[in-house]
Amino acid sequence: MTEQNNKDERHKARQQKIKQEVDARVEAAQDEKGLFLIITGNGKGKSTSGFGTIARAVGHGQKCGVGQFIKGTWDCGERNLLESHGVDFAVMATGFTWETQNKAADTAAAQATWAECKRMLTDERYDVVLLDELTYMVTYGYIDLEEVIEAIANRPAMQSVIVTGRGAHRSLVEIADTVSEVRNVKHAFESGIKARQGVDW
Ligand code: ATP
Ligand code: MG
Repeated sequence: MTEQNNKDERHKARQQKIKQEVDARVEAAQDEKGLFLIITGNGKGKSTSGFGTIARAVGHGQKCGVGQFIKGTWDCGERNLLESHGVDFAVMATGFTWETQNKAADTAAAQATWAECKRMLTDERYDVVLLDELTYMVTYGYIDLEEVIEAIANRPAMQSVIVTGRGAHRSLVEIADTVSEVRNVKHAFESGIKARQGVDW
């Protein structure tokens, strides 16, 4: 047998073994339930991922809701598109918190949006709920961590929830089913390039 044939055989055997293992895992995975996902980390792509999942669910005819913390007054491409596809939005429409420097007003705005999100998290008509940039609300103390954990833990069994934002609290990470951390390798902004409509918002 030639060296190449040997290599091919070994490759085939390895692939077969991997396939058997994956098949066994797929077979064993019997649980059906809504998922809790977190997309965190310092790289770009967290909200994009969250909204991508909402688009995926909408494409299957599922009912979705989005809570948007922080980026209230900005024009938002995802919102422009998805609202016309029946996605409900709860938006903290007060602009950037660090612009106002008014903790009481920011807390009230965050609480008002959170109240709408909590309603979605108790309504089984929603298949997927995205809580975009929620991590910061917990970090700044605008929304109580225990309340977030309770609302997510007690949501309808088949409902999926996605939380995005940097520095996800470890207690949230602990109860999540899937956690991805987006790592910053480089970002255009660091080279002085302005954020672009359609790419950044
Ligand atoms: P996106 O909405 O593009 O998926 P994101 O949700 O991962 O980004 P955020 O921290 O919410 O990141 O920031 C949103 C905005 O900040 C976007 O315009 C994005 O391009 C920009 N941004 C994200 N990561 C970085 C970074 N590491 N350096 C500079 N700007 C960033
Ligand atoms: Mg984001």
